[in-house]
Amino acid sequence: MTCYKKISCPNCKSTQIFKAGKSTNNTQRYRCGNACCKIKSFMLEYRYKAYEPGVMDQVIDMAINGSGIRDTARVLKINKNTVIHALKKKKKI
Ligand SMILES: [Zn+2]
Repeated sequence: MTCYKKISCPNCKSTQIFKAGKSTNNTQRYRCGNACCKIKSFMLEYRYKAYEPGVMDQVIDMAINGSGIRDTARVLKINKNTVIHALKKKKKI
């Protein structure tokens, strides 16, 4: 019996996905087939939680709701320096 897992792009939800080699941890990387998509490649499971989509947005949301830096790092299981970097990051206009 063969099992299949439906993979979709985390950015545009397109199911047109191609394999794009392996990372240094021997995890499969994927490339989105949608030409308009911003993401070039992605993995289903990241070794470092900070690379997962949406974690940096969660850092900012937790800071707005009064969580400290070490509190945020403990809950999201990322380094406190990553939290500080995300909070200091400025958006280019
Ligand atoms: Zn995409």
